[in-house]
Amino acid sequence: MPSVNTPSPDTAPAVPATTTASTPGVPVAEPRAPHVVVVGGGPGGYEAALVARRLGARVTVVERHGLGGAAVLTDVVPSKTLIATAEWFTMAEQGPELGVRGEAPSGERRDLVDLEAVNARVLALADAQSRDIHSRLEREGVEILVGTGRLDGPSRVVVDTETGTTTLDADTVLVSVGATPRTLPTAVPDGERILTWTQLYGLDELPEKLIVVGSGVTGAEFAGAYQALGSQVVLVSSRDRVLPGEDMDAAELLEGVFRARGMTVMSRSRAASAVRTEDGVAVTLTDGRVVEGSHVLIAVGGVPSTAGLGLEEAGVRLSASGHVEVDRVSRTSVPGVYAAGDCTGVLPLASVAAMQGRIAMSHALGDAVAPLKPGRVAANIFTAPEIATVGLSEATLRERGYRYVTTTLPLARNPRAKMLGMRDGFVKLFAHPDAGVVLGGVVVAPRASELIFPITLAVAHRLTVDDVADSFTVYPSLSGSVAEAARVLHGQSGEGLAG
Ligand SMILES: Cc1cc2nc3c(=O)[nH]c(=O)nc-3n(C[C@H](O)[C@H](O)[C@H](O)COP(=O)(O)OP(=O)(O)OC[C@H]3O[C@@H](n4cnc5c(N)ncnc54)[C@H](O)[C@@H]3O)c2cc1C
Repeated sequence: MPSVNTPSPDTAPAVPATTTASTPGVPVAEPRAPHVVVVGGGPGGYEAALVARRLGARVTVVERHGLGGAAVLTDVVPSKTLIATAEWFTMAEQGPELGVRGEAPSGERRDLVDLEAVNARVLALADAQSRDIHSRLEREGVEILVGTGRLDGPSRVVVDTETGTTTLDADTVLVSVGATPRTLPTAVPDGERILTWTQLYGLDELPEKLIVVGSGVTGAEFAGAYQALGSQVVLVSSRDRVLPGEDMDAAELLEGVFRARGMTVMSRSRAASAVRTEDGVAVTLTDGRVVEGSHVLIAVGGVPSTAGLGLEEAGVRLSASGHVEVDRVSRTSVPGVYAAGDCTGVLPLASVAAMQGRIAMSHALGDAVAPLKPGRVAANIFTAPEIATVGLSEATLRERGYRYVTTTLPLARNPRAKMLGMRDGFVKLFAHPDAGVVLGGVVVAPRASELIFPITLAVAHRLTVDDVADSFTVYPSLSGSVAEAARVLHGQSGEGLAG
C-alpha cells in the first residue's frame, strides 16, 4: 500500500499477500469452480474480480502496487481531489458579485494555498480508497497476490513476488494492466521540476509558473486547477485549440475562459525538449522559441503497460501502439484471454475500464452479456466550467452523414445560473429530425458531470426530446436548461442537416 507521502506507484511498497478463501464468513469457491486470474487491480481488474466471484469462480487478482490502480492512486482520485480545492477558489471568485467579501486586499492567492496540506489530503484519500477496495475484495473471497504478473501461454500466469515466483493456472485470464504517462526522451521527468501527473503530489510549494505541455483532457484539467490555485500557467498546445477531439464549441468556450483568467495558451506550439535551469525549467518549442517557468508538467498521453507481459508470445494480438486488441465483449485474439481498460485503448476512462472488466467476466463465465456501446459512454472534463458529453458527438454525426437537429442554450439565460453568478456554459442537444430520439448532448457548466445524467438516460433508453421536455424540472434549476433545450427541438425537423 503506498504511504501517504508516496506520489508515484513506482516507488510504492507492496501490499502484503493475502489469501482469504478460508476466512470465516468469507464466500468460498466450489472446489471445481473455474479459476479466473486477473492481472492488474485497477477499475478494469477489481470490478471484474467482483463479478467473477458473484458468478461462482475462484478469483485471484495479481497487483504489483495497490488496489484501485492508477485510477485510485495516481490519476482519477488524486486529480479530482486537487481540483476540488481549486474549485473552491474558482467559486470564491464569484464571492464579491454575490455579496461575499473576497480576499484581503494585500493577500496574494498563491500564498493562501498550503500545497503540502492539499497534497497530503489528496494522497490520504487515494490511499484510503485503495484500502477500501482491498478490504471489499477480501470480504468477497477474492485472493490477492502482490506481485508482477506475466503470461506464460494463454492459461498460465507467472507472478514475481517479494518472496519468489508463483505460477497460477487459469481457465480465464483478464489483462487489465493500464497505462503509464508517456514521456519524451528530450524532457526526462525528474520528479522535482520536470513532472508527470503522478509526480505532482510530491510538490511542497505551489509552482510559481507552471508550463503544461499537452492540451488534452489531462493537460487542460491540471492547467485550469493550478491557475485557480494561483500559479501562473502557460499551456502549450500543439493544435489550433485546446481539447482537440472534444466538442468544438465547448473547447472554444473553455479556451476563452482560460485566457480571461490570465492563462497563456500557446496554440500550434509543439514542445521539443525541457531542461532544468538554475532555478526552474526551459521548454524549447519545435520552432525554436523558449518558454521559461518554475516547473513543467508533461501531459502528452499514456503508454499501455503491455511490454514484457508475454502477450504476443501467448498469441494475443497487439496494435502498433502496443494496445491489446479486443472486441466489444473484451475478448482478445486468444480464447480464454480477455482484456479491459487503458491497455486496450478503447476509451481511457475508469468507467469504461470497469464496464469492460464486468462484461469480460460475464462473457467468460456464461452470464448474460450486453456488448460495450462506446456511443453511450458519458464522460466529463473536470475544468471550470466542466464539460460533460454523452452519445454521438457533432463531429461523429457529421462524419457519418447522419441527419440531426441541434440546439444550444447558453447557461447565461438560465435563471438559476443568473442567481449563482454563472455565465460561462451551455446545454447542447442532438436529436433525430423525424423520430425526435435524443442522439447525444454536451453540457458545459459547473457540475456538468451531474447535469449530464438526464441526457445519458435519454440516450441509453432512446427517449425522445418530447419525453425529456415533458418531464418536470425544479424551478429554478440548471437542469431546467436540459428540458428547455429538448422543448426547443420539439417539432424541429431538417435543421442542422449534416453535410
Ligand atoms: C490525470 C488523470 C485523470 C483522470 N481522471 C479520470 C476521471 O475523472 N474519470 C475517469 O473515468 N477516468 C479518468 N482517468 C482515466 C483513468 O485513470 C483510467 O481510464 C483508468 O485508470 C483505467 O483503469 P485500468 O484498470 O485500465 O488501469 P489502471 O487504473 O492503470 O490499473 C492498472 C493496474 O495494473 C497494475 N499492473 C500493471 N502491470 C502489472 C503487472 N504486470 N502485474 C501486476 N499488476 C500490474 C498497475 O499497478 C495498476 O494498479 C484519468 C486519467 C488521468 C491520467
